[in-house]
Amino acid sequence: MLKLKINNTEIEVESGMSILDAASELGIEIPTMCHNREVENHTSCMICLVKNTKNGRLLPSCSIPVEEGMEILTLDDEIHEARQTGLELLLSDHVGDCEAPCTIACPAHMDIPTMNRLLAAGKFDEAVQVVKQNIALPSVLGYICPAPCEGICRRRPIDGAVSICLLKRFAGNEGKYTEKPAPATGHKVAIVGSGAAGLSAAYYLQLRGVQITVFDKAAIAGGQMRTEIPHDRLPENVLDREIEIIANLGVQFKFNNEISKSEFEQLQKEYDAVILASGLIADEQKTWGITIAQKGFDADNNNYTTNLPGVYAVGNTLRPSKLAIRSLAQGKEAAAAVWQMLNNMPVVGEPKKFNSKFSKLIIPEYAQYMKESVEGNRIEPVNGLLAGMTTDEVKTEAARCLHCDCRKIDNCKLRDFSDQYGAVQKRFSFNERKPVRKYFHQSIVYEPEKCIKCGICVRLTEKHGEKFGFTYIGRGFDVEIGVPFNENINEGLKTVAEKVADACPTGALGKI
Ligand code: SF4
Ligand code: SF4
Ligand code: SF4
Repeated sequence: MLKLKINNTEIEVESGMSILDAASELGIEIPTMCHNREVENHTSCMICLVKNTKNGRLLPSCSIPVEEGMEILTLDDEIHEARQTGLELLLSDHVGDCEAPCTIACPAHMDIPTMNRLLAAGKFDEAVQVVKQNIALPSVLGYICPAPCEGICRRRPIDGAVSICLLKRFAGNEGKYTEKPAPATGHKVAIVGSGAAGLSAAYYLQLRGVQITVFDKAAIAGGQMRTEIPHDRLPENVLDREIEIIANLGVQFKFNNEISKSEFEQLQKEYDAVILASGLIADEQKTWGITIAQKGFDADNNNYTTNLPGVYAVGNTLRPSKLAIRSLAQGKEAAAAVWQMLNNMPVVGEPKKFNSKFSKLIIPEYAQYMKESVEGNRIEPVNGLLAGMTTDEVKTEAARCLHCDCRKIDNCKLRDFSDQYGAVQKRFSFNERKPVRKYFHQSIVYEPEKCIKCGICVRLTEKHGEKFGFTYIGRGFDVEIGVPFNENINEGLKTVAEKVADACPTGALGKI
């Protein structure tokens, strides 16, 4: 046994133990990527660097054994910067999209490829659940959204963008999803305005157990969606149905209720927060004490706070816009900020996570993406746009998706640590990017351009007795992971494909 100090705490451990394991005994977590307890350690990623404070040297904690009297620091500015640089070097030749371009283009950030996969599989109830994580009125938006997502869809230059908007409409119309609000928290929030922004904020806060009261000067909810959009473009019963779903969560509506300055001041006293979502601001509202910007109320771009404590402003109260999806997105984001405020958390709005991205596909890459898709032009509904797609059309159209998102999006150490350490993807990217390749196994996909050459898959397939497994192919900078003897990936991974995909620290190996 020997004694050392980690972050000034003394610990006694067996000799031969790594600094990483000793820190773990103290409950101190050090980030790792190329380390896997099931297989022998081969240090390569250098994310686990720590500092020997006696000589200031940075050491890879996964491979350096403890020494008597050592004094180790696991995080300071220098270690943070070294880890950030290590991540940026890994990202410099990393070619992958965490989120699909369509998801990034959607103001509400809807997870479009997941919706498409579920629709293609006929799982309509699950599909609407995915949509409603970000869009409170899926059917309505399926009729009126100009679909910026389709403008950027990777399938567009080949044979037409995936018909995302109509697919979302179908999910909203046909998918059954019974939302259950969380138990009441005791908080109450007033929302002024029942258009897209107000309804969206109401939906996401009521779901979290906050009691919402919506005030509107009109006699019925819907705002401009009801008054400005012709019924032959957005049938009224579609709007009514989705508002009713929100009302059924327990949201209270007070109609014919135009809020005056004194009533606004009363709302501030009676409610934990007030969200202003009443559309273009009237002259009287300019006297409410809220700072006015050029085109409306002045609010923070991320959390929608105004200069008045507890007062938030969204939608057309900020600036005129005809994009209901933008208002809907702001309502959702303001709901997140209000929730943070109610729970004494930092009021930052919806968190924005690190996203690896690359630009347009080059011609040979289409063939790689088509391996997971189907041939065929964009479907125009046989019964016309207003009627929308039939079930068969939906399944076929959804199957046209190229699945541009990463299959490890919620479970990728490279993404998580890049986010945590503020890594900048392009800092060390000087060369032209490599073309994307995709190799499909029956249950996993291998994308070499996302591989960090940690070798975990090589050692795992060897340990589990795969006949071929994975191995290093080539030398130096050009080394790659692959199946030996040019065998295909199904031959290489007979028994441990999913296990290896789970162990891969990036989306180079991911389950499909
Ligand atoms: S092909 Fe699918 S995932 Fe890719 S951009 Fe289009 S809809 Fe999104
Ligand atoms: S594919 Fe293998 S070598 Fe590449 S990152 Fe994944 S586990 Fe590591
Ligand atoms: S491997 Fe990780 S960082 Fe790369 S695209 Fe996938 S999720 Fe993003």
